[in-house]
Amino acid sequence: MPQPQVAVVGSGPSGMYAADALAEAGAKVDVFDRLPVPFGLVRYGVAPDHVSIRSVRDTLDKVWDKDHIRFVGNVDVGADISVEDLRGAYDAVVLTYGASTDRRLGIEGEDLEGSVAATDFVAWYTGHPAYAGPDFASLLARVRSVAVIGVGNVAVDVVRVLSKSPEELSATDMPDHVLAALAAAPVERVHLIGRRGPIQASFTTKELKELGELQECDVHVRSVDLDLDPISEADLEASKVAARNFTVLREWSERAPRGDASGHIDLHFFTRPTRIIGTDTVEALEVERTAFDDNGRLVATGESTQIPVDLVVRSVGYRGRPLGSVPFDEDRGVIPNADGRVLEGEQVVPGLYVAGWIKRGPTGIIGTNKKCAVGTVASLLADIESGALNIRDRTGEADFVDGLVDDGVAVVTTPGWRAVDAEERRRGKERGKERVTVHDHAELLQIAAT
Ligand code: NAP
Repeated sequence: MPQPQVAVVGSGPSGMYAADALAEAGAKVDVFDRLPVPFGLVRYGVAPDHVSIRSVRDTLDKVWDKDHIRFVGNVDVGADISVEDLRGAYDAVVLTYGASTDRRLGIEGEDLEGSVAATDFVAWYTGHPAYAGPDFASLLARVRSVAVIGVGNVAVDVVRVLSKSPEELSATDMPDHVLAALAAAPVERVHLIGRRGPIQASFTTKELKELGELQECDVHVRSVDLDLDPISEADLEASKVAARNFTVLREWSERAPRGDASGHIDLHFFTRPTRIIGTDTVEALEVERTAFDDNGRLVATGESTQIPVDLVVRSVGYRGRPLGSVPFDEDRGVIPNADGRVLEGEQVVPGLYVAGWIKRGPTGIIGTNKKCAVGTVASLLADIESGALNIRDRTGEADFVDGLVDDGVAVVTTPGWRAVDAEERRRGKERGKERVTVHDHAELLQIAAT
């Protein structure tokens, strides 16, 4: 049988794990990414101060050393080329392009200046080269009080980055302009707002605990939020993570304030945002108290208050987007599939597969994507075995990527990424740290071309 040729769209963890599994099985794999650098959310999602999680990059980077795997960066599938182009040029296409947009709150005032998406803030502080969101340097220059809405791990990242001292952030690979803007921000108080109780929060204990370990910050938990109702008692019984989180929160609620803290983190549970108030820019967040009714439904209690804030960051989850004519489930924001085989209605679309967040939604840790990607690759290999996926002999055909270059697309392949990697490490070494992220798109292309 000829060697299967597979295009993977997206070089985040799920794409890299899929590519690795495909190459191990003997396929030739091109990994496409719209950015000139690989690794998706490992580079542009994982918080830069989470050094050990970010070190997954080193593992993913080793995949490029394997035979028959190539990075094909700076190629926007959906703009420069279509999925149909790829389906014509490769035996199979695996879509792993993630969930890149944010979910909205749908409340009044959401479009005021100073009301922002966590996805934008994260893209900005990680130095995303396609960043086109709010001007955080000027927004942060006047921000004393912030509300972060949602109690997942992304919200915790945002609170931590806003609350850390410049010294605590200086060793990270954040671009210099980001470090300077965060250092200049006069943030004194960050409110973390959860619409349900502490037991229903989706953050994990390790991430939560870090908020209590910041150099210059006190964490405040209201004891009223820790009086558990019967619904929360039952949820606590059922979840080890919730029980561990609860222990941390109870300890904080009993802690004496330090007195000398320059920053404060206020945790609010059973608090739902109802309106963002301001004339031109954000001035306050209106919230209402919630509770579970006897049927376990979350209901408003009628108690409403305003929290004075200059910045509202909504961190209520990511959302996938459709790609060209590929089937898409608008309600769930995912590509419908059976074990990673893309479905059009009940029918499998031949040669089209999906893995990662765009397959199952934006949940789980990085490792979850390995299992997910390996599962999809197993389906693909089974289809080759059964003859459901036809492998064509492409001997003598022109290389698809060469064709893109001939068409004027500034493709960045593995040596280009290696040049960027080396330059970022060189700049880091000059400052006594591992790396400084290059954030400018044109500069990345220039370095990649050297
Ligand atoms: P998430 O865990 O799904 O959390 C979303 C939060 O938004 C939930 O608290 C949710 O509350 C809340 N929410 C949703 N709609 C809301 C609304 N209309 N009003 C108020 N609150 C609302 O999502 P995420 O934080 O974006 O994280 C995505 C995934 O990445 C997760 O699996 C996370 O663990 C992972 N991640 C991991 C790390 C890490 O390991 N360090 C770091 C970052 C992200 P309800 O529960 O009430 O809906």
